[in-house]
Amino acid sequence: MKITSIDVFALKPRYMPQAMRGIVCRINTDTELYGYGEAAVSYGKGSMAGFHMIKELAPVILGQDPLRTEWLWERMFMDTFWGQSGGPIFYSAMSAIDIALMDIKGKAFGVPCYQLIGGKQRDKVRAYASQLQLGWPEDEARGLRIAVTPEDYAREAECALKEGYTAIKTDFTCVGPDGRMRDHDTMRGIVPKEMIDTACARLEATRKAVGPDVDIIVECHSHTDALSAVQYARAIEKYGIYYFEEGTYPLNTDTAKNCARKVNIPMANGERIYTRWRYLPFLQDDSIQVIQPEIANCGGITECKKICDLAHIYDASVQIHVCGSPISLAAALQVEAAIPNFQIHENHVINKFLFTRELGKTDMAAVNGDFIIPDDPGIGQELSDYALQTAYHETVQ
Ligand code: MG
Repeated sequence: MKITSIDVFALKPRYMPQAMRGIVCRINTDTELYGYGEAAVSYGKGSMAGFHMIKELAPVILGQDPLRTEWLWERMFMDTFWGQSGGPIFYSAMSAIDIALMDIKGKAFGVPCYQLIGGKQRDKVRAYASQLQLGWPEDEARGLRIAVTPEDYAREAECALKEGYTAIKTDFTCVGPDGRMRDHDTMRGIVPKEMIDTACARLEATRKAVGPDVDIIVECHSHTDALSAVQYARAIEKYGIYYFEEGTYPLNTDTAKNCARKVNIPMANGERIYTRWRYLPFLQDDSIQVIQPEIANCGGITECKKICDLAHIYDASVQIHVCGSPISLAAALQVEAAIPNFQIHENHVINKFLFTRELGKTDMAAVNGDFIIPDDPGIGQELSDYALQTAYHETVQ
């Protein structure tokens, strides 16, 4: 079997909050088999850079045997100069290609990808409702619903619980009391008491609404720094926090370590950490207890499994970061099915909405707060006809 062409898609959902634009590739072969993968650059800036990076990497794999996934990963890593020290754009493109190759490999052997990386350890994964500051509306056809008052935060948590979730994640600081996103500069250094008090009031209302047994994850998005994160985290320890996410600059092991030492909450980080090489120092100094590799920018299924195994040596558990199209969701479920140190699955509010779910051929929605692991060959997901018809698309051959 040989790789004959690569189609690259910039998805165009009916509703695109904050410039959410999934970048997906389809690797085609000289047989009937093809595979889908995604580059995790749908949010923030850089989605079209990821689109073109996949095109730049295409010549490395065109004409090659798609089943040689490890060898092709090394070619992208070693033979491209920037592969050894890439950033999100480079590694998201590598990840998209690796996921698509693993999808082909699974289909070629007639097995789900989890069989290629150790076999299934669980039939379903427990998920948390993620980013409740953006709302968790009952109506899945609508858009986001920004939470402002403590009552808003309590209401969104209750909505998640009604759907069967027993864990939630919220950024309690990023929205100011006026309902506008805070200026990030105001969230660093020694921050005003108002910011901590506002966040605590929202958290307290949430804890009261969900009761003592629901797991609450606190998200910071690296808007905070080592000073404000410690100030904030110490103030909320009393609410019983499951883990504290991206409190500091994502790639500084020193500030992450200092924060972990000063706070009595497990630390999570990783959606902006790529490959084993970047994860290793965080694990060696125990500055992350829950790693969050983004499957579509950490190096794909091949690399994500290795990062999870590396974390296992250091007793760090895994929550794969998921915020993209149904393609990366499906790929994440394959790895989460197979790893021993799985912690919990992230269901980002974007993945709850129909405008995202309709981009996949198979509707993968949470059932009672759990995701069922698909048993179809490969990753078990493809782009829907709607996604294919509406996307901007180029082919490299
Ligand atoms: Mg995050």
